[in-house]
Amino acid sequence: MIKSNRPKSRIEYWHQIPWKRAEKVVFSLQKRIYQASLRDDVKVVRRLQKLLLRSFFAKAIAVRRAGMGASIQSYQCWPQIDPINKAPIPAQDNQGKKTAGIDGVKSLTPKQRLELINSLVPLTGKSDPVRRVWIPKPGKDEKRPLGIPTMEDRARQCLAKLALEPEWEARFEPNSYGFRPGRSCHDAIEAIFIALCQKTAYILDADIAKWFDRINHQYLLNKLNTFPAMRRQVKAWLKAGILEGKKLFPSENGTPQGGVISPLLANIALHGLETHIKEWVKGKRIKGATGRRLGGVNKARSISVIRYADDFVIIHKDLEIIKEAKEVTQEWLKQVGLEIKPEKTRFCHSLNRLENEKPGFNFLGFNVRQYPTGKHHANKTSNREIKPYTLHIKPSKEAIDRHYRCLADIVDKHKAAPQKALIAKLNSVIRGWSNYYRYSVASEIFSKIDHLLHYKLIKWADKRHPNKTWKFKKPKYWRTKGSNNWLFSDGTIELIKHKQNYDETEKVTKKGHKKQPPKYVKVKDVKSPFDGETIYWSSRLGKNPNIPTGKSKLLKYQKGKCSYCGLYFKEEDIMETDHIIPSKAGGNNSYKNLQLLHRHCHDKKTATDLKLIAQYQQQKELTKRMKTMFNKFDKQFLQGQWVWVDDIPVWIGTNDNSHASEERYEVKVSRTVLKTSGSGD
Ligand SMILES: [Zn+2]
Repeated sequence: MIKSNRPKSRIEYWHQIPWKRAEKVVFSLQKRIYQASLRDDVKVVRRLQKLLLRSFFAKAIAVRRAGMGASIQSYQCWPQIDPINKAPIPAQDNQGKKTAGIDGVKSLTPKQRLELINSLVPLTGKSDPVRRVWIPKPGKDEKRPLGIPTMEDRARQCLAKLALEPEWEARFEPNSYGFRPGRSCHDAIEAIFIALCQKTAYILDADIAKWFDRINHQYLLNKLNTFPAMRRQVKAWLKAGILEGKKLFPSENGTPQGGVISPLLANIALHGLETHIKEWVKGKRIKGATGRRLGGVNKARSISVIRYADDFVIIHKDLEIIKEAKEVTQEWLKQVGLEIKPEKTRFCHSLNRLENEKPGFNFLGFNVRQYPTGKHHANKTSNREIKPYTLHIKPSKEAIDRHYRCLADIVDKHKAAPQKALIAKLNSVIRGWSNYYRYSVASEIFSKIDHLLHYKLIKWADKRHPNKTWKFKKPKYWRTKGSNNWLFSDGTIELIKHKQNYDETEKVTKKGHKKQPPKYVKVKDVKSPFDGETIYWSSRLGKNPNIPTGKSKLLKYQKGKCSYCGLYFKEEDIMETDHIIPSKAGGNNSYKNLQLLHRHCHDKKTATDLKLIAQYQQQKELTKRMKTMFNKFDKQFLQGQWVWVDDIPVWIGTNDNSHASEERYEVKVSRTVLKTSGSGD
């Protein structure tokens, strides 16, 4: 029997919603959808999906996500990577940027949010047109269009995604990494590493042209194969017109970019490519390393198809197979209504030049390439063959250039700003970027950028004080710390180095110690967060390169749980660092006083904190008053006179009172007393 999960008492205020219970109820439903989908039980999947759509808690979560996570980037590029530019986005840009749809609503008040939950019909079969906004591409003059749905549609899309995602997560292929829960671009890169660390191979590096705009609607709806109401709703979203200014454009193809559900729909459309190519390759004649012909399983294993959103690579050691694979891919993409971008497609070899093509390729801001090693430095493969090459995955040249230009721009823009503001801005960009490349061979590149930035800052100081000498400038902007004489700092905040959280591991080899970049552990092939193995997933979250070091440290302390509600963090949750004792109530910045909370839990905690702060301020006020009182008293004490009476000091009042004569008399007495007691000893 399926239980209904309506809350028992009527909820009248937004803050009464029991979020912990809501998350648990929705997640357990999602787990059941996932399980049912795994065993291909379509009936149960649909029944559970309908139940989820009707659930009050699911609606509440959908409205919360639509309201607070409605930033362009956060649902555009889920793991903080821009799919268009293939570059990481600085962490702080990922939150808070809100854009309104055609209803003009950017955010809702708690009261409106509750009203929306109660009035939200999960599947209406209709959709308002989306508003087109143009987002500038970072570092370029070009702009790209985004369609922003209205708040209500956004909430409805969130709700539909809650229901559809677990069903499809159970089916998706192991080597698709973009826009999926629990998977990031680092998993894609690690998959490439695994494919290439033991062999040299030919590579097809390709992009799918305008995948968001061109997907064939009929094909997608047929593939979705869902119940009629959901089909009508998805169709309405796909066909929703685009409003630009006051003109309405119909949308014939594609999914509106900017909708919460679009990445999922695009992934569904491209689902099956990997399997198709693996099936195709089974019909080919391929010889193994020993010259013997391979069997079906080994043939499928010999080719790797790794896809991140619209970007994919196919890796195989035969050039012929790779060239044919391109044709096969093109054929397959035709039914989806897509094609490969010819100008961004190339064949290459991992180690050698292929005609005019340089060895290696770029993927998600990384450069993947093998370098020849001398035979004395050669390693051995698992088959004990000598391997006269080594695979290096580095930040790509374009990514480095773009990053340095970004840093230089910041320095130029802060010509007249205080040093503190400049350092804070630089630090946040450096931290995000170096975190992203933490697991690549980036040590030298990091040092080089630090070096370039140093010279840029020297110029910056020169321009600020053209008439001053370095005797003045150096101590004004740079400080000495340990052996570093050039620490860019104003005394309160320091400029961090790229290498700061890049801890190379010492690897003991036959020839001695060798420094190695830290290793990223790839997600297990067919695992999904919906399988309910929360410990596996929360421990992965701590190692996610997109999470700053401080936060991942706290995650480890808290064993992946939010300290307020006790639920495990999921990747789409927004985590915030909280002071257990608020800093306004005397708390400090040490790790002992910090904790990670969900953003919504943080909001709740802040409300109780306010009381604590008020209490603390009251106390502070009281102690302050007490202190001034005591100070006054002390002053009187010190100005007063003391006498020794039988070895005990006795206070006999102040000097400046009206009874001056009396005291003077007593002073005289005291002196005699002191003298006598002194001589008596
Ligand atoms: Zn929480």
